[in-house]
Amino acid sequence: MNITIHRGINQIGGCITEIATANTKVIIDLGSNLPGCQGEEFTRQDVERITAGADAIYYTHFHGDHVGLSGYVHDNVGQYIGKGAQEVNICKYSVLAKHDSKYEHDLKVAQNMKTYEEAQTYNVGDKDEIYITPFFVDHSAFDSYMFLIEADKKRILHTGDFRGHGYLSKGLEKILNLKARNIDVLITEGTMLSRLNENVVHENIIKTEAIKLLKKDNHPHFLFALCSSTDMDRLASFHAACKETGAKFLCDSYQKSVLDIFTKYAAPYSDLFNFNDETTKVLRENCSFDWDLRPNGFIMPVRAGSQLDFVKKMLYYFPDAELVYSMWKGYIEGTEEQKNQNIIDFVNLFHGQYHYLHTSGHADVNTLEKVCKITNPSIGVIPIHKEKDTRFDDLPISDTVNVITKSVTIGDVAIIIK
Ligand SMILES: [Zn+2]
Ligand SMILES: [Zn+2]
Repeated sequence: MNITIHRGINQIGGCITEIATANTKVIIDLGSNLPGCQGEEFTRQDVERITAGADAIYYTHFHGDHVGLSGYVHDNVGQYIGKGAQEVNICKYSVLAKHDSKYEHDLKVAQNMKTYEEAQTYNVGDKDEIYITPFFVDHSAFDSYMFLIEADKKRILHTGDFRGHGYLSKGLEKILNLKARNIDVLITEGTMLSRLNENVVHENIIKTEAIKLLKKDNHPHFLFALCSSTDMDRLASFHAACKETGAKFLCDSYQKSVLDIFTKYAAPYSDLFNFNDETTKVLRENCSFDWDLRPNGFIMPVRAGSQLDFVKKMLYYFPDAELVYSMWKGYIEGTEEQKNQNIIDFVNLFHGQYHYLHTSGHADVNTLEKVCKITNPSIGVIPIHKEKDTRFDDLPISDTVNVITKSVTIGDVAIIIK
């Protein structure tokens, strides 16, 4: 069996992993480079070469650094993603395609994807050589999965992006203990290895801090929260804070469409994800500034690029409004490559003033260590989705687990790191 990692171990994002047996090949994620990435992007020809002969492509989640090159894949290769993830993608590209025809192709690709079910095992290519089973993980993208891949009598766990401090992380240890012991190769993300100074708190703390902000000085607060429109946990934290304080959770019609998908899939499991209530108000649909927003305040999740002008206008009606910054700080305080001008412009609308309420969507080092210990991979761990000068073998696991960062053949498993 060959396991090929494309550009994974020296950059965050642009993830592509190939697993091939004699007659079957599966690809996990086909991500594009994140903005500011130094590496050269793959062309259509590169993608056609990588996906040639593939029986299927399985996506861990819908972030662009995992799914961004899916538009280059030939129609005869099946592409699979979670059901909820597919709906969010279709929702996003339907809105974008309305304003710009260049997104019509992305919409078609999203619509043509097939879906998989959690904990169901699939026979890739029907040749009984590779089996893949998705298991749910908590990440800053709704409906994310890790994959157990069984091939040539070996067991590989590919974690995708995940974390141990979200609302849905409780099941992580349990599922690893149940399904992912006796692993041969662990392929895991290492994003946080380069962000060791970041304070990683449980998502629940974000909710508590948001409540404090809404209650501060006993007057209504009008808060615009710069955050991802598809991070269900974060939106649930802000919504719950509003619900508890009597403030409104204000959104535009696009955000409401995404919330409706979350409600449909996740509310049956926890009321925390029921966004379809009196707390949620939709601009221009069921919302009066004087009756709904001014008496008890609001939190409105907003997007940097497309909502700058809108928020400028809202500041006319709510001149005392404040900004909640709920994203990675590197976008405004990082290196030149990491900075994002749209986000900086947004923060400047508030004269650079903001409340910082954020916790990472990625596993902290303690969680990475725990995953290594539970899975105890007999061949080794291949760290991907990490900066080039970060070392996975600094974790206190290296005496028991082999950390693989260079191409090597161990037994009948050839690991090729490109
Ligand atoms: Zn990622
Ligand atoms: Zn991600």
